[in-house]
Amino acid sequence: MYPYLIIKRNYMDSRIYLFAINSEKNPLKSYIVRIELGKYVKASCSCKGFAIRGNCKHIKICMRKIRCNKKIQ
Ligand SMILES: [Zn+2]
Repeated sequence: MYPYLIIKRNYMDSRIYLFAINSEKNPLKSYIVRIELGKYVKASCSCKGFAIRGNCKHIKICMRKIRCNKKIQ
C-alpha cells in the first residue's frame, strides 16, 4: 500500500492533505484519505473500515508519510 499525495493546501492555520492509497487486497481498488493538521487533527478515509470503525490503516500510513517526508510537511 503506497500513499500518493494528490494535493496539499494550506487553509488558515491548517494543512490539508489528500492522498490516494491502493487497497491491500485488491490492487484495482483505491481509497482517498483526507488529513487536516491544525489545532486538531482530523482524518477520514473512503474505505469500509473507516466507515465502520472510524479509523483505519490507510490513515496511519498517510500520517507516517507526512511525518517522515520533509518535502510535503
Ligand atoms: Zn482506510
